[in-house]
Amino acid sequence: MFRWAIHWQILIGMVSGAVIGIALNMFASDRRSEFSEAELPGGLQSLVCHDTTNRVQIEITDANGSTRSLVVSGGSDREESFATLAEVKKADPEAYALFQEWGRSRARWIGDVSRKIGGLFLRMLRMVAVPLIVASLMSGILGLGNASRLGRMFGRTLGYYICTSLLAILTGLLMVNLIQPGSGGTTHGQPTEKPPVSGDIGDVLFNQLETMIPSNPLGAFTEPNFLSIISFTIAFSIFALLVGGNTAEKIRDWAKVSFDVMMAMTLAIIKLAPLGVLFLMLYVTATQGVEVFRSLAWYMVTVIVALGFHALVTLPLILKFVARRNPVEYCRALSPALLTAFSSASSNATLPLTLTNVEERAGVSNRVSSFVLPLGATINMDGTALYEAIAVLFIAQLLPNYDLGMADQVIIAFTALLASIGAAGIPHAGLVMMVIILQAVGLPIEMQGIIIAVDRVLDMCRTSVNVWSDACGCAVIARFESSGTDGTSLNTEGELSI
Ligand code: ASP
Repeated sequence: MFRWAIHWQILIGMVSGAVIGIALNMFASDRRSEFSEAELPGGLQSLVCHDTTNRVQIEITDANGSTRSLVVSGGSDREESFATLAEVKKADPEAYALFQEWGRSRARWIGDVSRKIGGLFLRMLRMVAVPLIVASLMSGILGLGNASRLGRMFGRTLGYYICTSLLAILTGLLMVNLIQPGSGGTTHGQPTEKPPVSGDIGDVLFNQLETMIPSNPLGAFTEPNFLSIISFTIAFSIFALLVGGNTAEKIRDWAKVSFDVMMAMTLAIIKLAPLGVLFLMLYVTATQGVEVFRSLAWYMVTVIVALGFHALVTLPLILKFVARRNPVEYCRALSPALLTAFSSASSNATLPLTLTNVEERAGVSNRVSSFVLPLGATINMDGTALYEAIAVLFIAQLLPNYDLGMADQVIIAFTALLASIGAAGIPHAGLVMMVIILQAVGLPIEMQGIIIAVDRVLDMCRTSVNVWSDACGCAVIARFESSGTDGTSLNTEGELSI
């Protein structure tokens, strides 16, 4: 039976949700209601609510005749009011409850219900995030075979991965600060409890460093603290390799099996994405109107321009001056892999093609490619890192009163790097990982709903950049390997000895 490909399904879900939401916002988002003592629960004289897209007013007169008025506004008068309904909920739970029960416009009511349903989909993504990262990292590192294959090549490869990912993140941060795709939005987001982190950058970095050494690794898994989880998993895998023998083999088999299962689970959840997107899109557009698309278009432009810069300027420069390869020829050799990456949105699925292209069309030795590419498909994701940084700052820009300063941006850069390392090479993995960064800077996770809608297109673009960076890494490492400066050689069994 004919079935639409998942990205078409998601697109249809997105458009349907948006159309319904916009219609609701246009025709059912303005409600003024007044209730007298007879209609209201005991102890209240009157209640007046006015709910529009950008402004909510709640006026309550209690039994003693004293009146209080609360205003929620994304507009210019927000100084003397609340930025979000969540703030009202905290400051005056009674007023919030009255508004929810008596004052909401139909659009907001349906929007809130949709947010809850879409939230279930996001919960599922959060459910698989930790086991997926752990299994993906462990099978990648343990797949190296034995500890002697680590060493200098590992150091260089890791150095390349980190440098290019940081360059990508820097490009992303520069573009998003320059273009400001989310500024001018009037979103009523709901920030989580944690305030944005600010303060001395040194302190912030030291805190992150401390987090990388969890005093209770099991606690990190239940919290969950992703930074601690990733660092502990990497250490565990490396030491498993060092212990070697039967132990390493058993753990590797276990990691591989778990990874396969987690992949299957994630892919199954992604099948629900069209529905999840429909409800999240409906929530966003019903409560915020068509205005939100203007910001979304700029967001996409920002991500694509930044990815383009990294793929067409930064990486080719590295190829030319570090790997001493002709970027145009190298790109031509890799084109089948890059196109497959674009249409599959999965580095893992593209891996067999990347391997054959790099070896047979670009002439890199199997010794290098078999080491650099599988590891790269798991942990080197420049496109994903760049996209995470832009997406999180975009969400922050959309929220009124939510400025992310220098210290927060350093945290974003750092967490984006780790998120990209932890992301599996499958479609939408970057989206799953974004939760880490949103939590790190105290942004509301449900705001992901806004960007999920356009995630497939951006996923295709960033996956091509991920694969392109892995391939460039091969050329860089191959150059050092062949220059014979690292002292590595092949022993008689063809095993790499250091
Ligand atoms: N789809 C990407 C990849 O496979 C990961 C991501 O979602 O960013 O490389």
